[in-house]
Amino acid sequence: MNLTFSLYRLQTLDTQRQKITKRLAQIEAILNADELVQARMQEKMRVEAELSDKLKQVNQIAADTAEKRLKLELNQVQLFGGKIRNPKDLQDLQAESEALKRVLKKLEDAQFEALMAQEAAQKALTEAETNYQAAIDQKASENSILAGERGTLTDEMSKLNSQREALTQTLPAEIVTQYENLLKIKGGKAVAAIVDDGCEACGVELSPRDIQAVRSANTIIRCKTCGRILYKA
Ligand SMILES: [Zn+2]
Repeated sequence: MNLTFSLYRLQTLDTQRQKITKRLAQIEAILNADELVQARMQEKMRVEAELSDKLKQVNQIAADTAEKRLKLELNQVQLFGGKIRNPKDLQDLQAESEALKRVLKKLEDAQFEALMAQEAAQKALTEAETNYQAAIDQKASENSILAGERGTLTDEMSKLNSQREALTQTLPAEIVTQYENLLKIKGGKAVAAIVDDGCEACGVELSPRDIQAVRSANTIIRCKTCGRILYKA
C-alpha cells in the first residue's frame, strides 16, 4: 500500500475517532446533568414545607379552640350552676363568657382561613409532585436514548481502534510517531488531501509539479504553508 494513502486512511480513522470522543463527552455531560429534575425536586420540597406549615397552623387553631371551649364550659357551669350568687362575681363571669365567645368567633374565622390555605398548599403539592415525576420520566427517556447512542458509538470506536491498530502495524514506527506528533500540534489533522489543486487544510494552491511529486513519491511530502502531510488520490 502507498505510504501516503495509508496515512490518509489513518487520518480518516482518527477524524472519526475524534468525532466519537467528542460526542461521547457530550453524552456523558447530558447524562450527568439533571438541572430540571433538581429544580422540580426543590420546588416539591418547598411546597411540602409550606403544607406542613399550614397543617401546624390548623392544628394550633384547633388546640386553641378546644382550650377556649373548655374554659367557656366551665364558665357556663359557674354562671348558671346556681352556686355563685354574688352579683359582682356573676358580672365577672358574664364578662368572661362574652370575651371567650368573641375569641372563639375569631378562632373560627382563623380556622376557616387556615383550612383554605392548607387546601391550596395541598393542591400546589399535588402539582409539584406531578411536575417532578414528569421531569424524572423525561430524563429517563432522554437517558435511555442517549445510553443507546453511547453503546453504538462505543462499538464503533472499538472497531475503529482495531482498524487503526492493524493499519499502524503496516507502517514504519517512526512514520507513525511523526504523524502522531503532527496530529497533536495541528489540531487533530495531520494529513491533508489535495483538493482542486490546493491543500485541503490551509487552502494554499499547489503547483502541478508539487502535486505530481505527492502523487508519485512514496515518501512524505508536507505542505509548505501549514506543514501537514499531503495526500493526492
Ligand atoms: Zn496546507
